[in-house]
Amino acid sequence: MTDCLFCKIGRKEIPSKLVHEDPDIFAFEDIQPQAPVHILLCPRKHLISLTDASAEDAAMLGKLQLIAAQIAKERKLTDGYRTVFNNGGRAGQSVFHLHLHLLGGRDFRWPPG
Ligand code: 5GP
Ligand code: ZN
Repeated sequence: MTDCLFCKIGRKEIPSKLVHEDPDIFAFEDIQPQAPVHILLCPRKHLISLTDASAEDAAMLGKLQLIAAQIAKERKLTDGYRTVFNNGGRAGQSVFHLHLHLLGGRDFRWPPG
């Protein structure tokens, strides 16, 4: 989909603070960070959410988590961090291009709000 905020960020038509790029995935700083480290990791393929994903996306979904772990190491989040997919409006999803939140640098509560 071309008319999508995160597709446009991936194509660099909208500026962002990119922290990772490869042929499958790009990652950038969240514009409204909810923690000292708040990075969004997206597939280049436009998928709305996990609900939209299928078996052919399994490797990409695993790679999102592994790149998040790599960035967490680079950012020295040795005490813990959180990776989150919000799927659908009731879960708080507001941008409908699948993305993994990487949050760290503060304490997190459970259950989440
Ligand atoms: P969601 O609520 O869909 O799980 O997460 C969307 C995230 O995208 C939010 O944390 C929000 O701050 C972030 N966001 C929305 N618009 C922009 C933007 O234009 N640039 C960046 N870098 N982040 C954005
Ligand atoms: Zn998109």
